[in-house]
Amino acid sequence: MAREEVVQAASAYLAEVGELRQALEQLRDRAGELADGWDRRDDSLRYAGHPVGWAAEQLASPLADLSTAAARLRAVIDVLGDPTRCGVPWPVCRHCPGVGLSSSGGDAWCPRCGRGWPQVEVEPCPWPIAATVTDQHGGQVRWCASHAASATERLIGASVRFDDEVGEGSA
Ligand SMILES: [Zn+2]
Ligand SMILES: [Zn+2]
Repeated sequence: MAREEVVQAASAYLAEVGELRQALEQLRDRAGELADGWDRRDDSLRYAGHPVGWAAEQLASPLADLSTAAARLRAVIDVLGDPTRCGVPWPVCRHCPGVGLSSSGGDAWCPRCGRGWPQVEVEPCPWPIAATVTDQHGGQVRWCASHAASATERLIGASVRFDDEVGEGSA
């Protein structure tokens, strides 16, 4: 997909996720109010009402998931909407050329230098574009220095030209 198409789709999804979040928030608040105001003077009634309290608590989890989705969509829009940023979907360390980041639980870190980031800040790749990668069929993409450093390993037959290597006259 072209970057602009991805940004467009992400913006549309962000709006839908926002609406879903609002609806779910209202639902959670209603369930919470119902549980809080539950008549506990009678034991049978109190017992029957416990699951309403659990439901209210558990609605926090999908709300957190939707917040994560919104944060990822915003990152996609920010990065892919900016033509000076790399945008490759898998994250790499900015300081260790070509080294992919490990991630878990929303955190990403470099297995070589140990630097860490929130995953959403490095996916898609936010580093500045610094090279042109040409694949074996002549297709060209613009990547950051770190992604470009591993391009020849990732793309068979690819060639890489770093922007700062471009001699005078060829620009
Ligand atoms: Zn590193
Ligand atoms: Zn990159």
